[in-house]
Amino acid sequence: MDFHFSSRLGGLPPYLFVELDRKKSEVKARGVDVIDLGIGDPDIPTPDFIVESFIRAVKKTENHRYPSSEGSMAFRQTVANWCKGRFGLEFEPGSEVACLIGSKEAIGHFPLAFVNPDDVVLVPTPGYPVYHIGALFAGAQTYFMPLVANNNFLPDLESIPGDILKKARMIWINYPNNPTGAIAPDGFFEKVVAFAKENDIIVCHDAAYSEMTYDGYTAPSFLQTPGAKDVGLEFHSLSKTYNMTGWRIGFAVGNSQLITGLKKVKSNLDSGQFGAVQDAAIAALESDQSCVREMQRIYTERRDSLVQGLERLGLSCPSPVATFYVWMPVPSGHTSQSFCTLLLDKAGIVCTPGNAFGAPGEGYVRIALTVSKKRMAEAVERIATVL
Ligand SMILES: *Cc1c(COP(=O)(O)O)cnc(C)c1O
Repeated sequence: MDFHFSSRLGGLPPYLFVELDRKKSEVKARGVDVIDLGIGDPDIPTPDFIVESFIRAVKKTENHRYPSSEGSMAFRQTVANWCKGRFGLEFEPGSEVACLIGSKEAIGHFPLAFVNPDDVVLVPTPGYPVYHIGALFAGAQTYFMPLVANNNFLPDLESIPGDILKKARMIWINYPNNPTGAIAPDGFFEKVVAFAKENDIIVCHDAAYSEMTYDGYTAPSFLQTPGAKDVGLEFHSLSKTYNMTGWRIGFAVGNSQLITGLKKVKSNLDSGQFGAVQDAAIAALESDQSCVREMQRIYTERRDSLVQGLERLGLSCPSPVATFYVWMPVPSGHTSQSFCTLLLDKAGIVCTPGNAFGAPGEGYVRIALTVSKKRMAEAVERIATVL
């Protein structure tokens, strides 16, 4: 038999990491002690109290049966309590909260609930690849909104053409932002709500980095904006906040109709996250959040070690107050790709070329703060030798 991928798979964007992945293996095979600042995956283990609560929950026989797709009522109530404490927002656990198997699956699935073929989905670029893939799999067209430095890495909503707006059903926003590390300034979410109401567009806010903030900055929820619950929903993840990327747990909150649509898709495709993982997530969300403050302290130190080190080398780049990414302009004469290749070949450092997240990311590299402060200082020393 000769198999042909569907046009949906055929339409996938090229995977720009192929060459870098190959080089990385090659360099590692040479015995080089590689410093990997490429992927957005915390290197620190999940806090013990969360692991312990999971171990207790695994032994509960009620967790051995199918979970409910939308999440246990206990989980959804805990999410509602957390949102009340963190943002002062009230959500009805029955209709305005959904449990997710990590936020990625829901970001990918959500367009299936509200987008028809040939509708348009507005997607930031550079950005998390799943926004576009979800639109593609739903048969929709993606309109890419460039995020550039001179607009503070915010989409320029006024520049979106009228014929696009007529067909647009959904917009993705993500602040604090991956990969740029940008935050939403005061007034931006208000603009998005007005834009959504005027054009009848659903707002999807990806808040994966809402807790990964530094220097006293606290990230707002999009849903704190007046009118936001009329137009949108927000996707949260425990992955980065509690070093739980492997556990696959997150939640969505917001407009009940939008949550209902998401649940409808999910209940037809998955049967929910393992009850014991939901129980561990409850322990995480109900805790005093000292583990979050500790995580923030560690990333602040690493960020300072990197940014101040780069500064000394004459490579100035903004110090992000959120996310664990430094979005560094490449030295002049380099492209994203050529600088990443230089760092890997000559310094044994892996980072991600900015254009891998979309063409307007050209001219940047994304450096993830996923090694110790000491290792970060070593990375700076190695960079100094190749400049
Ligand atoms: C890491 C990340 C997520 C979270 O993914 P999970 O599936 O919850 O692990 C979502 N959005 C962005 C932009 C991310 O970087």
